[in-house]
Amino acid sequence: MAAKRKHGTMAPGDDEPVDPSDELMFLCLGGGNEVGRSCHIIQYKGKTVMLDAGMHPAYEGLSAMPFYDEFDLSTVDVLLISHFHVDHAASLPYVLSKTNFKGRVFMTHPTKAIYKWLIQDSVRVGNMSSSSETKVQMYTEQDHLNTFPQIEAIDFHTTHTIAGIRITPYPAGHVLGAAMFLIEIAGLKIMFTGDYSREEDRHLVSASVPENIKIDVLITESTFGISTHVPRVQREHALMKSITDILNRGGRALLPVFALGRAQELLLILDEYWVKHPEYQKIPIYYNSSLARKCMIVYQTYVSAMNDNIKRLFRERMAEAEAAGDVGKGGPWDFRFVRSLKSLERFDDVGGCVMLASPGMLQSGTSRELLERWAPDPRNGVIITGYSVEGTMAKQIMHEPDAIPAVTTRAANAARRPGQREGEQIMIPRRCTVQEFSFAAHVDGTENQEFIEEVAAPVVILVHGEKGNMTRLKSKLLSFNAHKAQPAKIFSPANCEELRIPFRQDKVAKVVGKLAQIPPPGPRGKRAGSSEDGAQTDDDEHHNIITGVLVQNDFKMSLMAPEDLREYAGLTTTTILCRQHLTLSAAGVDLIRWALEGTFGAIKEVNIKADALNGKEVNGDHSEAADEEVDRSTKAFKVMDCVTVYCRPGGEVEVQWEGNMVNDGIADAVLAVLFSVESSPAAVRQSSRTHSHSHTPSPTKQTTLPSHLKQPNPHATTSPSTRLSRLFMFLEAQFGSSITPIPYPRNSASLEAWFTQQNAKAVEASFEHGTEAAKDTADISEALTADDKAEVELSSEDKAELKRLHGLGIPVPGLEIRFDGHVARVWLEDLSVECKSAVLRERVRVVVERGIETISGLWS
Ligand SMILES: [Zn+2]
Ligand SMILES: [Zn+2]
Repeated sequence: MAAKRKHGTMAPGDDEPVDPSDELMFLCLGGGNEVGRSCHIIQYKGKTVMLDAGMHPAYEGLSAMPFYDEFDLSTVDVLLISHFHVDHAASLPYVLSKTNFKGRVFMTHPTKAIYKWLIQDSVRVGNMSSSSETKVQMYTEQDHLNTFPQIEAIDFHTTHTIAGIRITPYPAGHVLGAAMFLIEIAGLKIMFTGDYSREEDRHLVSASVPENIKIDVLITESTFGISTHVPRVQREHALMKSITDILNRGGRALLPVFALGRAQELLLILDEYWVKHPEYQKIPIYYNSSLARKCMIVYQTYVSAMNDNIKRLFRERMAEAEAAGDVGKGGPWDFRFVRSLKSLERFDDVGGCVMLASPGMLQSGTSRELLERWAPDPRNGVIITGYSVEGTMAKQIMHEPDAIPAVTTRAANAARRPGQREGEQIMIPRRCTVQEFSFAAHVDGTENQEFIEEVAAPVVILVHGEKGNMTRLKSKLLSFNAHKAQPAKIFSPANCEELRIPFRQDKVAKVVGKLAQIPPPGPRGKRAGSSEDGAQTDDDEHHNIITGVLVQNDFKMSLMAPEDLREYAGLTTTTILCRQHLTLSAAGVDLIRWALEGTFGAIKEVNIKADALNGKEVNGDHSEAADEEVDRSTKAFKVMDCVTVYCRPGGEVEVQWEGNMVNDGIADAVLAVLFSVESSPAAVRQSSRTHSHSHTPSPTKQTTLPSHLKQPNPHATTSPSTRLSRLFMFLEAQFGSSITPIPYPRNSASLEAWFTQQNAKAVEASFEHGTEAAKDTADISEALTADDKAEVELSSEDKAELKRLHGLGIPVPGLEIRFDGHVARVWLEDLSVECKSAVLRERVRVVVERGIETISGLWS
């Protein structure tokens, strides 16, 4: 069971390590496990989208705000406001005027129009707070007016690309202008529902699943959890029965509503009922909201954005008005039986009436004042039609308390009642009836589940719901996974709980420019000219690998040749030609070549004329100067196709390469080889010999080298003796020329005698002329070919062992190095070193290892 649950929380494809750039980050700054102060952050591929900037209706001041301190708002590219409700939009002026936010803000046209009035109204009554004296105003009217022009209004079904982020608003039902946003970042499609409704109501276009779009992540509200609404017709019937019951008993019906949105729908229902029921026409329907009056023009303007019902009503009313000669008046929002009430002072409270008053949560203001006035009379009734946020009076009254605290009347009756202590809460008895009929225009549990299943996103994130409701919906959705091949991941993060969801995508790069001219590989075995031979096919494939510069622009990747960068990527390229001059007085051209070959393998001799002319071009030198440089005695070698070594008479050496990370490294190695060659014993020998014959070095004399140095030394030659002589070259450079191959295997009985003999020889040699003795031992090829056969007598075991070593590619069992009066022996099979001096032993070991590294694949 535990394993099963663990599987449920696994993110898509977490078997392999995830590149952090493939992760989607989701963070609730508000609206996580709560309804109120909606605010979510999405981050993907370096792009940041913020969804909504709400305020919590149950709290005040800073505590009503989303946790803006938990995220660096300056990184937000785009902020999308789903609709004008306080819990989704009311902290926007704060974000724009008091934080380091510098992105762009989008909402639909109707949302923007209503938002303007709504914020202005809320700021005047104190940012939605109660009448508490300690309230902190989060922003001023001026902040709102200053930041309002920053908001960009967009139309439904239009796609906008901002900093590589594509956004498209879709109708969400709920309230006028409410949008679901489709957000596309680097091919990842994210859908944010905001508050949404799929119910056919009297004026709004209900939300539908965008067609032919595969959504990867669905962020959806979960206000009603899994509970289901009573069908609309029944609900309307029950609402009207409840209202008429109150009126019939001579009471007043109070409908606390949010000024805009659902109130308009309720007015349409009431007006229609009054038209059909003349017996109630003498009872007034009041609508107390100056804000709604201001916004009526917005509703009239956006009739075209509403559903067919309202459009039909519009046509009918317009025709009626025209017939009556009243052109310009009427329309669906011109109610027959609804009276607008400017303020309570003008309200003649004499008998039965229907009162729609804001705010919807009964926290303060007109609706609260009327509640406190009407609550003690049992004939009166309160009808809750919206979603009641946790912690508000609207939520509290539904539990039918015996008394409610007086908030508005305390201010009015400043004088204390007899016996009342200072600061004591005045309580008002509640005898009126309380009923609830949801017209909140949020999807219910069933509608939400159907929508989620229809969208079929592999990842679903639940927001905008109380914890209990959210958890119930989550487990319901997880239970659907049992029937699915690809189970959906369901998340319900709390505020400030960061989600990281990996979305691995294939990285595709477009090949452009010169590289595009290289034909792509054909299907296997069908290529023209390909042989049956497998090795040949592999070789062909090898040829089809193209290399170039990968350029990423937003999320598009292109592969191009470096020379195409300017044309295809708009980038400027620069080539840096590096040159290093050095004078090698001891080493000649052949030794340099030999040493370079020893380290880098085969090197190319460069046609000096052509290369010198190229060099002239680069330098802009005069042609005469170039001619001067082109000397027959100058030789040039190209190492690894990128570093050119010019050897000029008089030991002038120039190393030239095009500067880049790889070439610089190779050039460094070339320079190191050149310096070491200068100090190697072979060079010293050569220079001393040259010196003994003439004081002016000449190329012809420089060729008098030991016989093994005259031979080319390319890596292509894999004979054991060649590889051994390369190792000699390395050891010589470090320890001089007293290096002798050991002819006997390590376990040979003849070894001790041979060592004694070598010691005697060394003593002898010390009395001879140094250079001549060195010549004898340094001439590796001679030593190897001669093999001192006369002196070496091999037993049958020795022969067998030597055969085994030769089979492994090991030419001699070991080497004896004499250095500074010490003897070190290197056994080539395992590269172990024997030496009495620990210091020398370590040094020999390091040099041998480095030598083997350089002459790669020495024994293998
Ligand atoms: Zn809403
Ligand atoms: Zn909401």
